[in-house]
Amino acid sequence: MARPRKRRFVEDEPAITYFKPRGIPISELDEVTLSVEELEALKHADMNGFSQEETAERMGVSRATVQRVLTGARRKVARVLVEGMALGVSGGDYVAVGPERILGCASCGNTWELPFGSGVRACEAVCPDCGSRNARRVDSRGAGKRKYSAGRHGCCGSGRGSLQGDLELAKGDA
Ligand SMILES: [Zn+2]
Repeated sequence: MARPRKRRFVEDEPAITYFKPRGIPISELDEVTLSVEELEALKHADMNGFSQEETAERMGVSRATVQRVLTGARRKVARVLVEGMALGVSGGDYVAVGPERILGCASCGNTWELPFGSGVRACEAVCPDCGSRNARRVDSRGAGKRKYSAGRHGCCGSGRGSLQGDLELAKGDA
């Protein structure tokens, strides 16, 4: 049975939603539209340097989806720069949740949103897919430094992490 399609997580609505070359009236420009989740994928992968796996986790989608979204987004941005077009950012199938509310499961890789106002801390959350308690926040800070390990809580620092996980966390926090 197919799972219901999940909307992609984005951390924030984009602050700027239109770009154009200087000195050319909009009426004379061709326009390309980037979806909000395409911009989010570019932010994670190309600006913050996350791998496709890490980007997929942050957006709550598969790596294959991220690869497809990134390929399309890069082609659009390249075309805008090379051909001198206007770029709008709008639309897509996403939910803006705020980085501190996206949780990932270290046991099964599932990603979900911590319900707002639930009073549940990330370290107490139970994975809706596998029922484990290896949840931790998935955010954009510490790109390439922080490796999560099962049992180590990103939210409160409690739990028994592996030695390797502890060392990497310590480095990431320095
Ligand atoms: Zn899980």
